[in-house]
Amino acid sequence: MLTFTNRTALVTGAGRGIGKAIAETLARHGVTVICVSKSADSCGAVAAAITASGGKAKALAVDVADGAAVAKAAEQLLAEFPTIDILVNNAGITRDGLLFRMSSDDWDAVIQTNLSSCFHWTKHLARPMTRARWGRIVNMASVSGIMGNAGQANYSAAKAGMIGLTKSLAREFASRSVTVNAVAPGFIKTDMTTEFVNNPEVAAKILEAVPLKRFGEAADIANVTAFLCSEEAGYITGQVFSVDGGMAM
Ligand code: NAP
Repeated sequence: MLTFTNRTALVTGAGRGIGKAIAETLARHGVTVICVSKSADSCGAVAAAITASGGKAKALAVDVADGAAVAKAAEQLLAEFPTIDILVNNAGITRDGLLFRMSSDDWDAVIQTNLSSCFHWTKHLARPMTRARWGRIVNMASVSGIMGNAGQANYSAAKAGMIGLTKSLAREFASRSVTVNAVAPGFIKTDMTTEFVNNPEVAAKILEAVPLKRFGEAADIANVTAFLCSEEAGYITGQVFSVDGGMAM
């Protein structure tokens, strides 16, 4: 069991997949979880399920790509919660395509949703953490941000950017005991990867590059993320944790 002392966490992309698993795992550890997603339905369902099973959760529909919307949401949350101790920047999208066919819209949407969102949320929520001299920030990067991936120039650039942001902010916030780390998942079974996982030929090709020869589960990512958010991880900052079945060795 990990230690959390009256902590509140905000998890983006908590409506489905990896973010949902992170929200549920933190809630099981007694953390109050603010579940953010784009649609009110998905974060609402996750928060309701957590509450129904005895946990503490609140749902909040915010487009994380919209800096003004994030600023407004953060202001309201900081008025409602005395502290938000943990921030998990997990919301993300893909708009894959080879560079010559990639539109500016696809580039901008991926950069704004995956990378700029981390800047917006951290800018608003990290200051109270630094004042409280305790905080945990985890950014959900990707194996694509470490190795690159043909057809994912926008996504790889956003995820590599998240790693740079993680390392810079780890240095900025270290003196206030606010840690900043990144998790880099490989291929995890969620809505984002359904079309690959459910296509036997594509799945077999992908698994050739995965030493553990299986796709990951959302829980594999949630477990590492919960650890990085816990009291026990207080001496770890600026690190990138690959959870990818050995892909990026
Ligand atoms: P997913 O199943 O597609 O879920 C994405 C979540 O992000 C959803 O809850 C979605 O909200 C939310 N979201 C997307 N755009 C948003 C926006 N503009 N504003 C607010 N919320 C938004 O994805 P996943 O597979 O769990 O991925 C989670 C994270 O892990 C992403 O950052 C992804 O890049 C990263 N990752 C995933 C894999 C993988 O294999 N699955 C591998 C490496 C990295 P709605 O529910 O409202 O649509």
